[in-house]
Amino acid sequence: MSDRRNFLRGAAASVVAGTSLLAGGTLSASAASQLAQVKLKPKRIIALEEHFMLPEFEGYLHETQQNLKSGLVDKVVTPLSDFGQRRLDIMDEHGIDFAVLSLSGPGVQIEPDTNKAVRLARYANDRLAAEMQKRPTRYGGFAHLAMQDPQAAADELERCVRQLQMQGGMINGETNGLYLDDRRYDVFWQRVEELAVPVYIHPGNPPDYPHMYANHPEMWGPVWSWAAETCSHALRLVFSGTFDRFPGAKIILGHMGETLPIQIWRLDSRYKIANTKYEIQHLPSWYLRRNIMLTTSGVCDDAALRCALDSMGEHNVMFSVDYPFEDTKTATDWIRNANISDSERNKVAWENAATLMKIQHL
Ligand code: MN
Repeated sequence: MSDRRNFLRGAAASVVAGTSLLAGGTLSASAASQLAQVKLKPKRIIALEEHFMLPEFEGYLHETQQNLKSGLVDKVVTPLSDFGQRRLDIMDEHGIDFAVLSLSGPGVQIEPDTNKAVRLARYANDRLAAEMQKRPTRYGGFAHLAMQDPQAAADELERCVRQLQMQGGMINGETNGLYLDDRRYDVFWQRVEELAVPVYIHPGNPPDYPHMYANHPEMWGPVWSWAAETCSHALRLVFSGTFDRFPGAKIILGHMGETLPIQIWRLDSRYKIANTKYEIQHLPSWYLRRNIMLTTSGVCDDAALRCALDSMGEHNVMFSVDYPFEDTKTATDWIRNANISDSERNKVAWENAATLMKIQHL
């Protein structure tokens, strides 16, 4: 099988390079049908959920240790903290052209002192911007934001986008029990819309510990609770009418949409018989396709990708790794060989991200 694949890759490369597989000006029918199955590489790869760490934020990172096997967080601190050759070598080895970097959560979102949170978020963004400036063709950034102060978060997002050339913001779930549908965040969403940049909603833990996870520590964290928490956060934005008030706002969800793509039909169907508190202008699916984009971070699965492309739309799915919590080789090998068309592969691997975030140098 792998020999056949290698042959076909070679054959495809010959055709692309303009050399001849043609016999008498035409491909034989069997060669043409074999060629149609060849998966060409995407022209570029952009990755969007790629994390880093700074010493000042390691204390917050250890909040995440409760969700993982003991010692795991300590192990990732070294690759997270590297802005040197190690990170670039892994990107080069696996063909990642551009990575939008983000501070690994939860960061200042769990800082009880609001002024300290605002100050530290600015510091993190200045440090990230300095690394971006060293390698502007390789690194972008999502702003770290102190959502304890919505006005300050809006101002900091604007500073990061306009002055520091960042591509948007990343928020690690709720802040002090508030989700982003709270009307106190209108000032933030208005700025998001004006700046026309996406907000990545990354998983975090909820403000309480629901009984449904009692005695099941494996369900608390990336196996399950983060997906439930994060897609609920996105649905709060949909059902609160936030996207009616700010139609241009776009959020990004990781992990193949945190289970949302498979729920679309039922969300529409059962919304029609649900109790509601807010009026929204369209069915849920309409907002999912207009205002929510997703990345493939941590889900290297053809079936899930097919579902996401078909239900959310081919313009709404973007590649990511979730470095260093996920393996770059696994993710890049998968997207190169996933059973999708080459047009879809290029959209997922880089075109959709380049369009959304106006990444023009590639
Ligand atoms: Mn992540």
